[in-house]
Amino acid sequence: MELLSVIVPCYNEEENVFPFYEELMKNGEFLDKRGLDIEIIYVNDGSKDATVSRVKELHEKDERVKLVSFSRNFGKESAIYAGFRKAKGDYVVMMDADLQDPPSLLPEMFGYIDEGYDSVATRRVNRKGEPPIRSFFARMFYRLINRMSKTEIVDGARDYRLMTRQVTDSILAMCEYNRFSKGIYGWVGYETKWVEFENVERTRGETKWSFWGLFKYSLEGIVAFTTAPLSIASFMGVLFCFFAFVLIVFIIIRTCVFGDPTSGWPSLVCIISLISGVQLLCLGIMGQYLSRTYLEVKKRPLYFVKEEID
Ligand code: UDP
Ligand code: MG
Repeated sequence: MELLSVIVPCYNEEENVFPFYEELMKNGEFLDKRGLDIEIIYVNDGSKDATVSRVKELHEKDERVKLVSFSRNFGKESAIYAGFRKAKGDYVVMMDADLQDPPSLLPEMFGYIDEGYDSVATRRVNRKGEPPIRSFFARMFYRLINRMSKTEIVDGARDYRLMTRQVTDSILAMCEYNRFSKGIYGWVGYETKWVEFENVERTRGETKWSFWGLFKYSLEGIVAFTTAPLSIASFMGVLFCFFAFVLIVFIIIRTCVFGDPTSGWPSLVCIISLISGVQLLCLGIMGQYLSRTYLEVKKRPLYFVKEEID
């Protein structure tokens, strides 16, 4: 029998541990039909409520329920990674505990895997029920990051993804410290099918993301998947040098024609603008080396092989 691992990151989700399990099992007929075993890995991300004891209770009833419990809150990205490490399944799916990722989509998603896709990703087609200001900034973020980064990061994409063992192993091979899953999924590649669904609102508990938290997370995404900001200095430097050059020519001609009424001023302006330009340019060059060092330090794999024939 093949095994499906379900990874559920939980941070203060005591109200959701049982409902999630029940909802998942309600949609579980396809497991038997397809000859699949299941393991449900709850990753407790340092909850301060009864999440852990709820999961233990569930484990008493059903051995297929497993738990990884962190010593403190390390953030959702760490929880996802821990889940991936623990998962033994031939297929792995990531789902939020709050049922915003409907388990009813699973049979359809498996259909695509059987068609030959390596991973099936989901995206919400709308952001119904979300504060408009949050939606606005989210949209801005996706537009910005897709312009700057070569890795495609899809607007509205959820972390809800079903993937094969091969894709899972590739994701595990990316052992960078600052993780941004949405980018990592895109970076590893493979054939991905997108499934769309209407946004589902959280029914129990409350969101763990503050506006500030999301803002920091979005910066994480930009810094992790593009070194474009490091090139800003070189760009400005070149622009400044050019500007200084034009200014120098202009001032020399003007001084020759009209003389130098405020003595020393023209040369001063020329020197300042030229040196600013050169400084920015040098900073940009440093930035280029820094970006290469940054990419080396991440130790990302050079490539992933999907198939090979000898
Ligand atoms: N989560 C987590 N660690 C955190 C924050 C959130 O494991 O530090 C989990 C949370 O329990 C939930 C999922 O990540 O299962 C998504 O969180 P949430 O529903 O608060 O985010 P939203 O759906 O509002 O984006
Ligand atoms: Mg949620």
